[in-house]
Amino acid sequence: MTNIEENVKKLLTEIPERNPQGEKVTLVAAVKMQTSEDINRAIRAGVRAIGDNHVQEFKQKYDLIEGGAERHFIGHLQTNKVKYLIGRVQLYHSVDRFNLAEELSRRSAAAGVASNILVQINIGNEESKGGFELEEASDAVEKIAALPALNVQGLMAMLPLTDDECELERLAGLMREKYDALRASCPSFRYLSMGMSGDWKLCVNCGSNMIRLGTSIFGARHYDK
Ligand SMILES: *Cc1c(COP(=O)(O)O)cnc(C)c1O
Repeated sequence: MTNIEENVKKLLTEIPERNPQGEKVTLVAAVKMQTSEDINRAIRAGVRAIGDNHVQEFKQKYDLIEGGAERHFIGHLQTNKVKYLIGRVQLYHSVDRFNLAEELSRRSAAAGVASNILVQINIGNEESKGGFELEEASDAVEKIAALPALNVQGLMAMLPLTDDECELERLAGLMREKYDALRASCPSFRYLSMGMSGDWKLCVNCGSNMIRLGTSIFGARHYDK
């Protein structure tokens, strides 16, 4: 059995409190496919934010998760499912297209809440991943920031799966550059969400201040379960 408590404690000592830019680094536990018991173990061990990928799982587990942790949404989100999340998610990491931002805006306004979002960038230009191209990021952020009832708080990216550290550093560096450029005109910017179990150290060194870890907390996921 995975020792979730030990994994969380170890990570909390390993993750630097601040990135090289001096910003606090926030750990988000990526909880797809995990049971509510295991998620609660992670929270009791010190995790302060959990991120879901699937609306169905989010709904099933919502009331079973103990207090003390923020709820984030980190997965691909279908517009017709936004309604189940409004008012219950403190940060949407994966706003990867304009019509999703519009739906979040419309539903948030109707519910009388403001939703915090990050704009997802497809930094590796990968067909399998969602998000705006880096070159579109400025226009996308400007258009999305103009929508009511949304706070655009930064950018999110997933680096490609490769062992080429130079390439990963180059891409992470491009994300940080873009984040800094946009932050200059977008005072609500505060998060660059970048880094998973395999690459979080590199990402934090390159200026990420929010990392999303699944495997290194809960162990390998078994997709046949
Ligand atoms: C699953 C997932 C993660 C965590 O991945 P690990 O490699 O298990 O740490 C992070 N971000 C997103 C968007 C994910 O779907």
